Amino acid sequence: MLTHSRLILVIGYFACFGMLDQTTSAEKPLIQKVKSAAPPLAQPFALSDVRLLDGPFKQAQDIAIDYLLSLEPDRLLANFRSEAGLKPKAEHYGGWESQGVSGHCGGHYLSACALAYAATGDKRLLDCVNYFVDELGHCQEANADGYVGAIPEGKRVYAEVAAGNIRSAGFDLNGVWVPNYTMHKLFAGLRDAYRLTGNRQALEIETKLTDWFVKVHANLTDDQMQQIMVAEHGGLNETLVDLYVDTGDERYLALSKRFHHKQILDPLAAQKDILPGEHANTQIPKIVGVARRHEITGDTEDQRIANFFWDRVVNHHSYVTGGHCDHEHFGPPDELNNRLSPWTTETCNVYNMLKLSMHVFGWNPSSKVADFYERALLNHMRSSQHPDGRVIYNLSLQPGHMKEYQSQYDGFTCCVGTGMENHVKYGEAIYFHGADNVWVNLFIPSKVQWTDHGVTLTQTTQWPQQDTTRFTIESLQPQTFSLCIRKPYWTAGETEVSVNGKIQEATADQHGYVMIERQWKSGDVVDVKLPMGLRTESMPDNKDRIAVFYGPTLLAADLGPIDDSKATEPFYVPVLLTDNQPVDQWVKAIDRNSLQFETDGVGKPRDVKLVPFYPLHERRFTVYLDRYTSEQWAEQEAKWLAEKEKEKQLETRTIDVLRIGEMQPERDHNLKSKNSHAGEHQGRKWRDARGGWFSFEMQVDPTAANELQCTYWGGETGNRTFDILVNGKKIASQTLHQDQPGEFFNVVYAIDNEIIGGQTIATVRMECTAEAMAGGLFGCRMLRAEQGDPEANIKEVETSIGDGQSTILPLTSSWRYVTDYPSTGWNLANFDDSDWQVGPSGFGDGEQAKTHWDSGQIWQRGNLSLDSIPASPQLKIYHRGDVQVYVNGIKVADVIGNTPRFVPLPIEGKAKQSLKQGENLVAVHATCIGESPMIVLRVEATATQGSAPAPLYRDPRFDGAADPMAVWNRQKKC
Ligand SMILES: [Zn+2]
Repeated sequence: MLTHSRLILVIGYFACFGMLDQTTSAEKPLIQKVKSAAPPLAQPFALSDVRLLDGPFKQAQDIAIDYLLSLEPDRLLANFRSEAGLKPKAEHYGGWESQGVSGHCGGHYLSACALAYAATGDKRLLDCVNYFVDELGHCQEANADGYVGAIPEGKRVYAEVAAGNIRSAGFDLNGVWVPNYTMHKLFAGLRDAYRLTGNRQALEIETKLTDWFVKVHANLTDDQMQQIMVAEHGGLNETLVDLYVDTGDERYLALSKRFHHKQILDPLAAQKDILPGEHANTQIPKIVGVARRHEITGDTEDQRIANFFWDRVVNHHSYVTGGHCDHEHFGPPDELNNRLSPWTTETCNVYNMLKLSMHVFGWNPSSKVADFYERALLNHMRSSQHPDGRVIYNLSLQPGHMKEYQSQYDGFTCCVGTGMENHVKYGEAIYFHGADNVWVNLFIPSKVQWTDHGVTLTQTTQWPQQDTTRFTIESLQPQTFSLCIRKPYWTAGETEVSVNGKIQEATADQHGYVMIERQWKSGDVVDVKLPMGLRTESMPDNKDRIAVFYGPTLLAADLGPIDDSKATEPFYVPVLLTDNQPVDQWVKAIDRNSLQFETDGVGKPRDVKLVPFYPLHERRFTVYLDRYTSEQWAEQEAKWLAEKEKEKQLETRTIDVLRIGEMQPERDHNLKSKNSHAGEHQGRKWRDARGGWFSFEMQVDPTAANELQCTYWGGETGNRTFDILVNGKKIASQTLHQDQPGEFFNVVYAIDNEIIGGQTIATVRMECTAEAMAGGLFGCRMLRAEQGDPEANIKEVETSIGDGQSTILPLTSSWRYVTDYPSTGWNLANFDDSDWQVGPSGFGDGEQAKTHWDSGQIWQRGNLSLDSIPASPQLKIYHRGDVQVYVNGIKVADVIGNTPRFVPLPIEGKAKQSLKQGENLVAVHATCIGESPMIVLRVEATATQGSAPAPLYRDPRFDGAADPMAVWNRQKKC
């Protein structure tokens, strides 16, 4: 954030500004102690100079303020007090606030209340700031050495660090979860309290705390500093340079320069994109820090790093929403097609990219930067808040998935923290100014006061619903300046500008702005028309995977309610047969005023509504749609119809269905239980019993052979051996353990007619011993048995699950393998592997492993035998550890870390060209890092039309977990 100019304007506000209510804290003007060596050309206005007017952004601001006011500061302060040896005044909040990063939300809360106060002048928020700062002051006093913090064991960690005893990993410093990340939030909160509300105690506390922090690092070598920075540390370089500006104390600038993470920043300075595989949000705050520092010191290398990083992320790693990352990590540049999952686009990352964009725009006021800002602000940020105030961590881009919200009072994740700030600072980037010009970057209804010129500019608009906006000027005296209006990238037709009704020349300059220079007087009106139309954008690596926009607004295909029972069916997300026609030929408006559209005859198997993504909540959706040719669809349609037919047959055989885990269906089936839990996973409800049981009644047909079909999740772990009983008689014992990672699967159990005993209702019971779990059961059906071989039927049902769009290719079921280093050429076709061992696929040391393997490494060779070359061949792989995969000697994947499910590895490029009819060699080298007994390596081959998410990068928090939150919770227990 360009806080120094905000500082200047805060001075203006306290000194002479009358737009806000007068503050009661009659503060003296704040003084910036250090002059900027490289001030930006375009300065943002202080947030206190801008007021939002009615519209979607003002609504979001109001919702966010209600949430901030509902938080109890004493609960956020509880761990600050207990760490200082004081009695907490209330119980601390749960979630992350009860874990290693305790206190991070305290920092965010302080920043958010200060921002919200600046944005509105609402005194209640000032009271929050003052109370929180005052309480931190008491804690600091009690600690006596300058330290203040809520981090559990924070004192122990920093004492060890000060003594040079440093143990760091990605998210761990000396056994505690990212303490420096948490410290950065606190520094930032204190800075914002000082700069935005004039609270001088905040500056005093921050100064004492930083003096303590300087001492902690005083005796460390540069190598030790670099070692500390292996662990995520937020933007310490930013807050340290800001404190230097606020105090003039050079020691803080010196420490900012020592918090310069060379491993990441040096290659970026050399313009190398080393981002693939890196944890995304660990990096951005460091870049914001160097951007900030450049403005103060004039260091051009810092600026080069920031510009390069911004360009790479925006133009090579971002989705159409303006968000980036999958499973919190960067992938390869310009490869986004196979990276669509429920865990894409973390909101913190967008928060930080918007901060960085403020700097980059300031140095080079180009519409390209503002275009990105607008895209991300409207389509990600404004999307990320539910009308009830909950916010989103990862904004899912998985086709057919939904927005998932964070709990407001017991989650307190990183994105809840940044989420407190996001919606109270929409005013910060609408306008920028130079000495004699104002840039208008965003078309958000608002009023800005430009004190230097005694001018107020009011913008009224229904954007993005409407394509016009109006500016009205109020000025005590006529003023000469230029009004520079951004010409956005999405305009469809001529931009029109008129001043007091008179049409003006509206050609954009080389920076993308329409500039009107004149002497302005009160009452002048500027009308602008920025024509909008339908348009599409493609994936960088797949021109046929597209997103539809109306002007700036991303449209999502609205697929159905969250609990849509059809959501797991093939082609739930339709494809488009557009025949290369322009988008306005196959999308028609239902209601143009509210931007409601519909595909017109091109959706297969159905047309869909296209609606603005940002206000879409509680619905299943996709923002990406696949364009098919008629031939592709014909092939898929046959498969789809076959699926439908199979489903129809299943329906005719179905006697009863239980939607387990749902209240009414469970009540209808007389569900009873002991030690049973219910929940949701991958969009489906489940129930289990832990050292207990659950039972329910199902209709049966006494005149037929009955079968019970149960749906399970293929990635289960733990002790899940349990019995299934019908009318008190055991019909089966079932064990669930990594059966089909990443997929649901069905098991069908035959029921003896004797057990049914001529009745029409039977009681089904799942039970386990005290140490075990029964289930999770994800659904249940009572069926009339099919004629013929029941075993064959089971297999068919099982293979029909998966992604529903793949054909299984004949990859060898037995592999040649060695566990000791083979000689060179082991991955080539002509290599002699006759002395290698042979074993069936599924290598590991768990019960489900088909071939036992528990040594560190393994090399495998197998055959893929093809009659013809499929259009989209891929390998599907599940593993724990690092794996390299070769097809005919050509590397197709170098996968780091664990996959939480079967992930696809497309066989593309040279590897695909190398495929031939007959035998093809697949060679695999794997390194095992798994600890729990399980299958560590399984490879299959399929041909597919669609694609599935491919989380290929290591994040220790996600190892082996389908649900990242479960891992966070596990971390808590450790
Ligand atoms: Zn986050």
